[in-house]
Amino acid sequence: MKITGLRFRRYSGEWDYDGPLAEGRVLRPEDIYPDLAAAPPAWPVRHDERPPYQIAALYLYIDTDEGLSGLFGPVSAEEARLISGTLAPVLLGENPHAVERLWDRMYRTAIHGRKGQTMMAISKVDLALWDLKGKALGAPVYALLGGPTRPANRAYASMLGYAIEPEQAAQRAAEMVAQGYAATKWFVRKGPADGEAGLRENLALIAAVRGAVGADVEIMFDAWSSWNVPYTQRMAELAAPYRVGWFEEPVLADRIGEYAELRRTVRGVAIAGGEHEYTRWGIHGLLAAGAVDVMQADPTWAGGLTEMKKIAALCSTYGVPLIPHHGSFASTHLIASEDMTTCPLQEWLLQAGARENALLKYPLEAADGAIALPDRPGLGIEIADEIAARGEDVVV
Ligand SMILES: [Mg+2]
Repeated sequence: MKITGLRFRRYSGEWDYDGPLAEGRVLRPEDIYPDLAAAPPAWPVRHDERPPYQIAALYLYIDTDEGLSGLFGPVSAEEARLISGTLAPVLLGENPHAVERLWDRMYRTAIHGRKGQTMMAISKVDLALWDLKGKALGAPVYALLGGPTRPANRAYASMLGYAIEPEQAAQRAAEMVAQGYAATKWFVRKGPADGEAGLRENLALIAAVRGAVGADVEIMFDAWSSWNVPYTQRMAELAAPYRVGWFEEPVLADRIGEYAELRRTVRGVAIAGGEHEYTRWGIHGLLAAGAVDVMQADPTWAGGLTEMKKIAALCSTYGVPLIPHHGSFASTHLIASEDMTTCPLQEWLLQAGARENALLKYPLEAADGAIALPDRPGLGIEIADEIAARGEDVVV
């Protein structure tokens, strides 16, 4: 089998979703500038849009001389540009099953692309190659990678986009428990620039969520790279009575020494991070520095499934659980192929997941706090018939 072409199709549809959306805006590193801190939420739709939402996404196809194609998406416009311009010449004429050779060739070609957008583009190609391999061999990708290790992946409800006003957050957190989730993650709005009042506001959210879910459900909080060391230490002290599972990305991704300092000095709250790190070498840097208790590399960013299997082996060696950042279908297959200690849990971003599902024939959905494993060959991503019929080829 040989790769004969790479192409993109744009699928669009209506997302008729009338639930809460883009109610709250997450703390961002640039919020240290007061003029930027007031920007409205814009995720996963603009805050001023109303349902039904008009949505669209690009999907990558890798075609072969045997008529079979690998599919992965969504891919960003920037990733599509990098795939067409930089990666396609490496792939054309190659055997698509040789994923190790192709990953290594892409990595060696994109010498300035070790981290960030180019590695995210390499990840998308790798995932489409795994989809192709699964379709060619008639097996779900997790089966090719050593799974399934469990009947379904236990998931945590990730509440990005929901209001964090304590009463609303408490109500929604209780709904998540009623839906069967044993863990839920919330996103704080206040950081060091907001002083004592901001600390109290974060604490009120933490207290409200703990009060709503009871003693047996795990609660986690994501600072989106926007706190600092003393602020995180102070939040951990204040939050001690509420038994927080982890603080996520308390500082910017490059501040590995600060992560390590937090992991050494903060008691009672785990330190999570790694979603903005790439490849086995980047992840090993975090592990060797003792930077995190929980690793969150994303299979759609950090190098695809070929690289994530190596990252999972590293995490296992260091005894650090790998709980990938969202990653949707890619994370589902990775987790289902690793043992329960290495990958105990899957993140399910409710709003982003619902938006992605709106274009799909077989949505990835959480039920009873777990994500069922797709049983179709490949990754199991298939565009809904009526949306696929209206798809357009996009020349990048
Ligand atoms: Mg995060």
